[in-house]
Amino acid sequence: MKQFHNFINGEFVATSKTFENRTPVDNQVIGLVHEAGKVEVDAAVKAARAAVDGEWGRMSVVKRVELLHAVADEINRRFDDFLAAELADTGKPHSLASHIDIPRGAANFKIFADIVKNAPTESFQMTTPDGGTAISYGVRSPLGVVAVVCPWNLPLLLMTWKVGPALACGNAVIVKPSEETPATATLLGEVMNTVGIPKGVYNVVHGFGPNSAGEFLTTHPEVDGITFTGETRTGEAIMAAAAKGVRPVSFELGGKNAGIVFADADFDKAVAGITRSAFENCGQVCLGTERVYVQRPVFDKFVAALKAKAESLKIGPPNEPGVGLGPLISAEHKQKVLSYYDKARAEGAIIVTGGGSPTMPAELANGHWVQPTIWTGLPETASVIREEIFGPCCHIAPFDTAEEAIALANNTQYGLATTIWTSNLSTAHQMAASVQVGLCWINSWFLRDLRTAFGGSKASGIGREGGVHSLEFYTDLRNVMIKL
Ligand code: NAD
Repeated sequence: MKQFHNFINGEFVATSKTFENRTPVDNQVIGLVHEAGKVEVDAAVKAARAAVDGEWGRMSVVKRVELLHAVADEINRRFDDFLAAELADTGKPHSLASHIDIPRGAANFKIFADIVKNAPTESFQMTTPDGGTAISYGVRSPLGVVAVVCPWNLPLLLMTWKVGPALACGNAVIVKPSEETPATATLLGEVMNTVGIPKGVYNVVHGFGPNSAGEFLTTHPEVDGITFTGETRTGEAIMAAAAKGVRPVSFELGGKNAGIVFADADFDKAVAGITRSAFENCGQVCLGTERVYVQRPVFDKFVAALKAKAESLKIGPPNEPGVGLGPLISAEHKQKVLSYYDKARAEGAIIVTGGGSPTMPAELANGHWVQPTIWTGLPETASVIREEIFGPCCHIAPFDTAEEAIALANNTQYGLATTIWTSNLSTAHQMAASVQVGLCWINSWFLRDLRTAFGGSKASGIGREGGVHSLEFYTDLRNVMIKL
């Protein structure tokens, strides 16, 4: 049986308390995860502190950048190991993980190392009240010991998107991967040792949230900052923990994202784009679209086209050729998604397609499969329009004017992302200026330039990461004023 150990101070650490890691494809146990208690979390925090105060903290940026490039190269050298680990944990299609999760996971180390190497700080010259001159400039120092609490939907990618910039800035990290997906964070420990990242710079503690590694880590007084990706409700709990000691947080939280399709859009591209944003990764993408608004002249045609696309998605295990839809992450999550399928039915939705679980071959029957699902006909007050489901489903409603589309899109507590489809440049700019989100895609979705800001508005997050914005969180900016 595969063992997933904690990684503390450069060593793999077993504990007496373990929990099962199951693959969502057939619910078989694929390993045992060693849960960290307070002792292991404390050891990881101490190791991280020693790293920041020691060799790592004193290392030149050039040397640090060199090492982080080596981390990326080593992930790519062990691409197949990372891919296999991610596929076993998540069950997502091979085509998706091999194009997005693993390559982007590796790239996060190179890109942020280069950003940090090249990022300038401010500098001003001023005249002083006595007629003299002074110059002032900024100096960035690492935040220190950073807790990185991660979700399960894109395990390696979302973890390295935090760990890459944190390490590039000279911090040491303690990663708490999701209890559902312990594998790639653990594997990364091997990579760190292979390329010579000093002990204690990268640590992993396994476990759950409340009364487990997540809570022990985020309440630990020696943690200097917490970066978290996950549900808004969990963010509230972590923010309360961070209040003690007034520690900074960076939060990427839930969403209930709108997709808006204008009648003048390139129809086929819009259908393809919404198909991806609604169903990719089995709908388990924070940036995904669960509310679609389509301008009335093309509404019926769009609903029919999206239905055809959803029904053409092949459901199956990662390595089966042509698979477009994997399972949900867990039995618990499947139950949650199916409860929304039931609610939609009870609230009077027209079920355009799906609405339940598919019939799978016997060997996959215990996997967490659900059908891609499309609804129409619900009022904006319906549960499936208000609450984040995180499954392969969306509701489609018609709209008439841009003003109406803006009002519909903004009518939510969340503000993460939107995808807008139009061929009219003025409409695109008008919409981009009016939607209350951190990320606005026009005629695209999930297209990212890592030099730019990423994050959510309203209940979808606090702060921005990406490019130099990551430095705002992962460093402390000191002003130096010199009177000449
Ligand atoms: P989750 O909030 O349940 O768990 C995330 C992590 O927090 C896990 O590692 C979990 O163990 C830990 N945790 C839970 N309770 C905790 C506590 N009290 N203290 C400390 N740690 C705790 O989220 P999830 O189900 O893993 O992921 C899905 C959610 O993540 C969705 O809401 C999705 O929208 C969101 N998400 C957001 C983004 C983004 O960029 N905004 C990206 C991906 C996922």
